[in-house]
Amino acid sequence: MKAIYPGSFDPITYGHIDIIKRASEVFDDFTVVLMNNMRKKPLFSADERLEMIKEATKNLNVKVDLHNGLLVQYVKEKEIKIAIRGLRAVEDFEYEFEMALANREMCPNLEMIYFMTDIRFLFLSSSMVKEIAQFGGELKQWVPQMVEDKLREKFQM
Ligand code: ADP
Repeated sequence: MKAIYPGSFDPITYGHIDIIKRASEVFDDFTVVLMNNMRKKPLFSADERLEMIKEATKNLNVKVDLHNGLLVQYVKEKEIKIAIRGLRAVEDFEYEFEMALANREMCPNLEMIYFMTDIRFLFLSSSMVKEIAQFGGELKQWVPQMVEDKLREKFQM
């Protein structure tokens, strides 16, 4: 069955990678889709984020794609019926709930499926790693080495 995992991945973290590993074992046609829609002003360009996703998933059975625009446009165009999201704490639930209801209005055939975070990554987010990188903190338990290198490069440390 086909499914996608949309997100901004700015940058990809072990939290995302854990979801990708687990979901790609459930769905045999699984695509990570970088949604480049400027909702949050990204630190990394779409190309940089795409490259990091590709590198981080190169040994997994997943495809990687880029979409400039909204999730609903992508799923209609590609006839996708399932989108995966990850859930951490209650804040994620509220946000995801709102998004899912809004998306259903526009795209009633799309089902969202949620994967609970691994407890190790409960507090991990892309914003957290950017903040740690900015202040020169330890990153190796949160992101792969090449993402750490890119972060250090951005913050010139
Ligand atoms: P978006 O801007 O679309 O929320 P993100 O890259 O921040 O994109 O997140 C993409 C998805 O991955 C979201 O569903 C988010 O909840 C999930 N996610 C992010 N970090 C983690 C984590 N540490 N554990 C589980 N899910 C996560």
